[in-house]
Amino acid sequence: MTQTLPGTYHDRLARTLPAVRDRIERAAEASGRGLGDVRLVAVTKAHPREAVEAALAAGITDLGENRVDELEGKVEHFGSEGVRWHMIGHVQSRKAARVVEVAGMIHSVHSLKLAGRLSRAAEENERVVRVLAQVNTSGEESKSGFVPESAPEEIHEISELPGLRVEGLMTMAPFVEDEAVLTDAFAVLRRLSERLRAATEEVGPELSMGMTNDLEIAIREGSTMVRIGTALFGERGT
Ligand SMILES: *Cc1c(COP(=O)(O)O)cnc(C)c1O
Repeated sequence: MTQTLPGTYHDRLARTLPAVRDRIERAAEASGRGLGDVRLVAVTKAHPREAVEAALAAGITDLGENRVDELEGKVEHFGSEGVRWHMIGHVQSRKAARVVEVAGMIHSVHSLKLAGRLSRAAEENERVVRVLAQVNTSGEESKSGFVPESAPEEIHEISELPGLRVEGLMTMAPFVEDEAVLTDAFAVLRRLSERLRAATEEVGPELSMGMTNDLEIAIREGSTMVRIGTALFGERGT
């Protein structure tokens, strides 16, 4: 693995950002949509501040982090003006209040317990926090998230919490190359979203799915938000 040198993030993004946007646009067009229909969340986790600096300079407005400490550090340094910080990684319930302080959107609400804590923290801050409910669509034990069978009731319950606004759903595909398996994982999320939204107006239309290796498949299955790290910033050193 070659780690990106800090000074080269600008140069790298000058090449990679147009390429990633091109991939998104082609995939969106193939599914009858456009570049503007799929939000790019640039995942800067495990990259230094220079990566964030370069991303902001390139006009990126959505940044993703997967660890609370790192998110806090970067938000403290760069602020939240003109940027939406996305928490995309596992959140422990005891860190809920900290995440609410810094995240503009939390993609990884994986349990009723966490949702309850987030909602209370949001209320204490007199805010409503935008969240996505994470669903384990692959059945892999290593992945967190609601299981598809019980997800409808649980997500409905979350959507009624006063401090949260459920803008949609999120999933992580399994780490496989088999296109049929990936397609299936994303299709499960889309169908779940359709079912939920037919039953309640409290759940929004966002589908956060697709990473560097599977963004085309995710977009074809209806993704509205892709979370891209490696294709933009290179391999992570950690
Ligand atoms: C790291 C991470 C990504 C980005 O993955 P890449 O393969 O580097 O694009 C997306 N989503 C989540 C939840 C992640 O942890």
